[in-house]
Amino acid sequence: MSDNPAVQFKLVSRHFGTVKAVDALDLEIRDGEFFSMLGPSGSGKTTCLRMIAGFDRPTIGQIYLYGQDVSQLPPYERPVNTVFQDYALFPHMTVGENIGYGLMIKKVRSVERKKLVDEMLELVRLSGFADRKPAQLSGGQRQRVALARALVNHPKVLLLDEPLGALDLKLRQQMQVELKSIQKSVGITFIFVTHDQEEALTMSDRIAVFNLGKIEQIGSPAEIYEHPSTTFVAGFVGVSNLVKGAMARRIIGIEQMFSIRPEKIHIAAPDIGQAADEFAADGKVRDVIYLGLYTRYLVELGDGGDLVVVEQNLKTTSMDVTKLRGQNVRLLWKKEHVRMLGGADA
Ligand code: ATP
Repeated sequence: MSDNPAVQFKLVSRHFGTVKAVDALDLEIRDGEFFSMLGPSGSGKTTCLRMIAGFDRPTIGQIYLYGQDVSQLPPYERPVNTVFQDYALFPHMTVGENIGYGLMIKKVRSVERKKLVDEMLELVRLSGFADRKPAQLSGGQRQRVALARALVNHPKVLLLDEPLGALDLKLRQQMQVELKSIQKSVGITFIFVTHDQEEALTMSDRIAVFNLGKIEQIGSPAEIYEHPSTTFVAGFVGVSNLVKGAMARRIIGIEQMFSIRPEKIHIAAPDIGQAADEFAADGKVRDVIYLGLYTRYLVELGDGGDLVVVEQNLKTTSMDVTKLRGQNVRLLWKKEHVRMLGGADA
């Protein structure tokens, strides 16, 4: 482990004409962590990754890798490697040749090269696939070859730009677990770009949530999910009810925007009492969507607002839950689960 951060941005901006793709960003990524950059399309994630790799340069500001200012270094002089979404494998080469390509360029001798390639194949669970061509592999296997090819050079930092984007959901979820376990076993800093919040929550030690070229919040998955610090984060990561204005005043006593997660709200009978540590809101169930594992309810409150509630179907069946449609209910949730929000429109 190094005392210096693996990556450090000091007031980095990247402008394309009038577009501020990255806007005065300060950021520190620790050595050995699985760090995700999460945000909607166009929020500046890929531009950040490209500047770390050296494919792009900041308009203003400096980037440091392990304490060294690399702002002026070309990509091949930086201790980083990138895995792209489209894998970028050489189709005419075998899996083994693809993985060993970088070593061959560095003139590593063939016996040593074969040993290192075999180690990598084992790491990504593709032993026995060395002689196949990329076209003879599944999407997930190709992705693992791309990963092995990037890791064989022992970069200090591995950059991954939406690497699972082309895979179907099941394979994607399986690869998420594999990527995380590979990262743990090699101990290299992984910087992972994604717009998929579930993916970021599953794998990361820390997540930076990007919006309009800036970072709205950095924290562990639990911090980001349980304590979103802005309206944007509360809305982008998971599902949140955002309550403001008169409705907020009626429920919590002040006109301050807050968020409450749907799974924290409990549906009770309309005449049920409210404990001192709870907030309550009365409404009518407008919609019930039975989803097997859980049910999603849309509850209309008196003054036109509504709240989404999610409850697990621990004891209920689809028959039970649909009976609630049209019923008056009282919604209750613990005060401690309310998050007061900042941000532009709070
Ligand atoms: P996605 O998830 O779609 O890849 P992103 O968060 O990675 O999005 P970036 O690719 O970093 O976003 O783009 C940030 C902004 O900068 C966008 O508005 C984009 O149109 C703009 N941009 C990026 N590269 C260029 C370029 N070479 N020339 C002009 N504008 C660019």
